[in-house]
Amino acid sequence: MSIDVSATFVFQGGEGSYTEIAVRELVGPRGAATGLATYADVVDAVTSGRARYGVLPVEHSVVGTLQDAYDLLASGEVVPVAELVGRVVHCLVAPRGASPSTLREVLSHPVALAQCDGLLNRLPGARAVAFSDPALAAAEVARAAEVSRGAIASRAAAAALGLEVLEEDVADHGASLTRYLVVEQAPRPGVAPSTRLRAGAAQKTLVSLSPDAKGGGVAAVLGELAQGGVRVEKLVSRPRPGVSWEDVLYVELEGARDDAAVAPALERVRGRCSWFRVLGSFERATTEAREPIVPAPEAPREVRDAPPLPPAARNYPRAARQARSEPTVVRVGDVELGGDTFVVAAGPCSVESAEQIDGVAEHVRRAGARLLRGGVFKPRTNPYSFQGLGYEGLRIMKSAGERFGLPIVTEVMAPSQVDPVAAVADMLQIGARNMQNFDLLRAVGRTHRPVLLKRGLAGTLDELLAAAEYILSEGNQAVVLCERGIRTFETATRNTLDLSAVPVLRERTHLPVVVDPSHGVGVRRWIRPLCRAAKVVGAHGILIEVHPDPPRSVSDAEQALSYDDFTRIMGDLSELGGDAVFSV
Ligand code: PEP
Ligand code: MN
Repeated sequence: MSIDVSATFVFQGGEGSYTEIAVRELVGPRGAATGLATYADVVDAVTSGRARYGVLPVEHSVVGTLQDAYDLLASGEVVPVAELVGRVVHCLVAPRGASPSTLREVLSHPVALAQCDGLLNRLPGARAVAFSDPALAAAEVARAAEVSRGAIASRAAAAALGLEVLEEDVADHGASLTRYLVVEQAPRPGVAPSTRLRAGAAQKTLVSLSPDAKGGGVAAVLGELAQGGVRVEKLVSRPRPGVSWEDVLYVELEGARDDAAVAPALERVRGRCSWFRVLGSFERATTEAREPIVPAPEAPREVRDAPPLPPAARNYPRAARQARSEPTVVRVGDVELGGDTFVVAAGPCSVESAEQIDGVAEHVRRAGARLLRGGVFKPRTNPYSFQGLGYEGLRIMKSAGERFGLPIVTEVMAPSQVDPVAAVADMLQIGARNMQNFDLLRAVGRTHRPVLLKRGLAGTLDELLAAAEYILSEGNQAVVLCERGIRTFETATRNTLDLSAVPVLRERTHLPVVVDPSHGVGVRRWIRPLCRAAKVVGAHGILIEVHPDPPRSVSDAEQALSYDDFTRIMGDLSELGGDAVFSV
């Protein structure tokens, strides 16, 4: 095994638990291994650096998949670096003086009890009593010290507690196995994992993914792997955080992530997913003697096996057009961005009150908008200006969106806002001022919410795509780019709306592109022609600001559109050719 067995290990379980036995077998009698109360404690000890490795059970040969570990791996804070298999040998244990005929109660975990039906039938005077854990059941029996109470637990638990083993190996089908993943802290971005795979050893890779709206679903994902000659060993499906009725699929496959067959197949799979993350490659568990450990030096990680890229695209291999066979379609609630339908997102610059957002939502929905925009955390030039209603604003915006059937998009300004906002909003906006806030980009990259990424005031298109790459690299493949005007020498308009960005981006990337003429020109009466123009140059949609009483808007009043302005714009867009996105 390629991990350092002299390092500190943590696991869930007490003395004599089956996990402890497996870990002790790995680290040796003098190894550093500590049992903790919960799996979350294990992950916490590893991410805080108190322990180098954590041991999480993922599968039992009789019970099947153990889901808790997968949900903990979903956070990406820890990565699998090794696999461990432990034997479960159930024994009937009891205090000194007890015998099978004196027992009236046998305590253990319900799964252990179910595995020992034959034994329990042979003990006619005893009834099974469910307990949280076999080792804790043994501890309870030792504490009570009554000949009428026994437990099903390990031999090690009996020895540690001074209990007798009345019968050994009592499970109906003999010993069973538990498979564990040894995890360590996720490597820092751009740094190679500190645990290196041994050349020549059999490897496995664990990937988490969600197929996207257009990618052909699970069948297509598995088809890519099969076609690439990659053998899938296990599939686990878990609810996708925050997205009802969608799943994250955990795919365990044969081979390491960099193998000649695996790497290109995984890139093709990524191209069919709205979420994709390689959790790690690790050595398959073996019963052979362990070899000494070689801690790997830290080295920059390179992206390998990417398709051939033009030189400009070297900073964004996943965002580049070449990375996907089809353009990406991003689903926001029931709305698709990047397909054939031109999508209008509208709403106030800032959420100001329930009355205001309800009024806007009702009007824009009736006029044909599909998404409701509105800021609750506002990036303002002047620190004394209105800064947004925060989470209260988010709540009232969400209820307006639900009432009028509009998924909501709102800006996050800090990594700490990402999870709480993602729990409510349908799409997260990264504002122009944060296009290169790399911590924020990574944070939204770890969520399962689609992201609207705005171009920075002085960001080149290649820098915008490299910013998108930050998000994609963390797992979230659902990114929509937004041209919202850049700083130039021109002062007549608030910014210079760079409509040439649209055909350029549509050539360079598979990601959808929308245009925000409101911030682009910043003057109400010039927005309407630019909405038309955005559609004509091939944008997949527009983002515009609408207010029930434009001059009274608390932010960006000069560019706020009235309901009538908005209705006229929607009329223009439908005149241009129904809902279709123009090809470029
Ligand atoms: C906004 O959309 O309200 C906003 C602040 O936009 P930008 O980040 O493009 O200035
Ligand atoms: Mn604004």
